[in-house]
Order: sequence, then C-alpha cells, then structure tokens
Amino acid sequence: MEGNILALNGGAKVKTTPFGTGHRFGLEEAKELLEALEQNTLFYHFGHKVKQFLQDFNSLYQVKYSVATSSGTAALHVALGAAGVTAGDEVITSPITDQGTVVGILYQNAIPVFADLDPHSYTMTATSIEEKITAKTKAIIVVHLAGNPCDMDPIMELAKKYNIKVVEDCAQSYLTTYKGRLTGTIGDYGCFSTNDFKHISTGDGGMVTVNSGIESDYFTTHAFADKNYRRQEDAVMKDIEYLAPNYRMTELQGAVGIAQLKKLNWICTRRNELGERLKQGIATIKGINPMKITKEGWCSYWFYMLTLNLEQLTCSREEFSEALAEEGIPNQSGYIPKVLYAQPIFQKKQAYLNNHYPFNLGTYDYSVGSCPNAENILETAIRLNISEFYTDQDIEDMIVAINKVASFYSKSIS
Ligand SMILES: *Cc1c(COP(=O)(O)O)cnc(C)c1O
Repeated sequence: MEGNILALNGGAKVKTTPFGTGHRFGLEEAKELLEALEQNTLFYHFGHKVKQFLQDFNSLYQVKYSVATSSGTAALHVALGAAGVTAGDEVITSPITDQGTVVGILYQNAIPVFADLDPHSYTMTATSIEEKITAKTKAIIVVHLAGNPCDMDPIMELAKKYNIKVVEDCAQSYLTTYKGRLTGTIGDYGCFSTNDFKHISTGDGGMVTVNSGIESDYFTTHAFADKNYRRQEDAVMKDIEYLAPNYRMTELQGAVGIAQLKKLNWICTRRNELGERLKQGIATIKGINPMKITKEGWCSYWFYMLTLNLEQLTCSREEFSEALAEEGIPNQSGYIPKVLYAQPIFQKKQAYLNNHYPFNLGTYDYSVGSCPNAENILETAIRLNISEFYTDQDIEDMIVAINKVASFYSKSIS
C-alpha cells in the first residue's frame, strides 16, 4: 500500500504538477487606462470611465442605480449611512467575515451585534438573526460568505416584519444567485468590493446597489460617498446637511473595472464548476463535512471551506492541514483567526482610542461562546483556494489528497 503512505511520513506526494495560473489583466485593461488618461481628467464626475463601469454593472445586475466607491468597506459604510443607521442603533451581522463588514457600523457609532451561523453553509439564518433583534435593531448586514448565498426569503420576511433594512455584503459573492435572483439585488442595498483579492480587481474599489429604485435614495447614497456633493441635482455644492466621507472611485479604477467586468461571467462560471466538482468529490469521505450550498443557491466559490469531524479522525485540525499541504495541496486552517467579537476591539469595547463610545450606550454581550457554531467552524475548518485558472486535474488531485489524508487519520470502528 505504498501509495497510502502520507507524504508527511515520506510517501509519494499526490500533487506533482503545478496548479494552473494565468493573467488577470491584459491589453483590455491597458487600453481602457490609456483612454482614461487621454481624457485629461481622472475625476469620475468629469470623465466617462466610472460612469461606463456603473452602467455596465447596472445592466449586468439589472438594477437601476448603483454608486461607485473606493473600497468594499466604503460601500458598506455608504449603504448604512444611506439607510439612516446612526448612533446607538444596532446592526446584526456575521461573526465570520472580513472586518470591513463592521467598520462602517462603528463609524456610524452604531453597535455590531453578531448572529450565529448555520454550521455547514456558514451563513446567518432568519432564526439566528431573530434571536438578536431588539427595539434598537436598524439593519442587518448579511454576508454571502465564499460566494454561498444566505437563505434570503425568510430573512427578507423577518426584515419586513420588524421594519429593518437589509444590506447584502457581496464582496465574495459575484454573480451568486438565490432562487435565480442575483445576490446584491434582493436586500435594500448590495455591496461589492473590487480589492485585489476578489473575483475581479481594480486594485481597490467597490459598488453599492440602491435596490429601492427610487431616485432620491440614489441621490442620498451617491452624496454619502462624495462629501455630500449632490452632483446629479445640478446645483453642485448645496448645503452640507449631514456628515458624509469621501469614498470616490477614480477614473483609473473605473477604467480597469470596465475590462474586468467583461471577464466576470467566465470567472464565476469556471469557479462554480471547479467548486461543485470538489464538493461532489469529497461528499462521502468519513471525517469530512463538505461546505453546504444553500438550497436553490448557485455559488461562485471565492474559496472552498470544509470542516473536519474530529470525532471521526485521530488527528488534530493542524495535523490534517499540514499533511494535506505536504501532499502538495496548499490550504489554510480556518478563514479569519477568530470570530470578530473575540477581537480586542469588542473585548475591550474600544472602537476609538481611549474611548468606549458607542459601546457605553448600553450593555452588549461579546462573550466567547455566544455564537457557538461560528466558533466551531473556525476551529475545525480547512480552507482551500479556488482559482478560475485551476485545471480539472488540479481539482481531481485535491480530491485524491483529501481522501488520502482523511483515510489515513480515519478512526477504525471498534
Ligand atoms: C473583502 C471584503 C470586504 C471589504 O472589502 P474591501 O474592498 O477590502 O474594503 C467586506 N466584506 C467581505 C465579506 C469581504 O470579503
């Protein structure tokens, strides 16, 4: 049984060929960039690139209005600002997400409240959200983690019942659908990121959809990303009626975005194919819980994350991760180091240096153990990269290696 000796123990590696790679940027982006420079302005309101980028994005997503921003974090802040989230309000979100999800909440001096996750889809559910609703809840930020959609119908029903706004964090869920509808078009606002690690990149950048389709909501959202300049309403530089940051996208980002958007469909289609094959290939391996895709959901796999059933394995998560890496399959233990509420900012209740505002407005529970499923996910997860440039063989090798490592560490039935 030569082939069953782990590479970790001196056996033959499963993966002997390099993973597929490719170029994300080409002459398409260069041509757009050159045109942007030739405009003799890089300001979005005078040039045409950001406008074109948004027009293309709107037609791809079939939405009437969206606003370009400088990042995904900015997009989320803009959505919350436009939704009227303010000091002392509570915003319910996921404990497993990029910290950018909560930055805007705290900058509005509102309070992040964390809802537990489904143990296998890693998404918030209407049930876990409802447990956290209080009279102060103003909004929910759902996170379609790794491109897997949240079960939105019950969440939207809940939001309607309690009169709460829904912001979708779609930074990882480009072209993801739920019951045939694109994520980012289901809630009140959909927020996207084009930072360099997402499906498409403009270096940094983001977009917010304004799903009410109401022109005045669009103007408010737009103004919130642009120091309260209300540029569509002709009389630029009206009175400054409320605080709004400068989160503008430049023409350079817009130019690259135009070319990147044209590639989005194949990127997501390819990632879906690869992710689905991986999911199916490891579906019945003992000791492995595959990532569960939400019913009637279509996942664009920003990454693939499984969890280990450690009761069926003789190894620790770290041993499993190392053994898999030795087989030639790069992987990470978990996603973020710990659930967000375990971070010092929440444990010390200190959003601003030397100040406990807004946490001192009430009593908020960030105790470890408060979202047990989320904590368990991060303690048992193995995260695998998915890239649109991977070959079919790359995925087959991943499946063989996961099988090999899991079989080796599988507890025999006593
Ligand atoms: C990347 C990301 C963000 C933040 O986007 P930036 O462009 O880096 O600010 C927010 N939420 C999620 C889920 C992300 O993956």
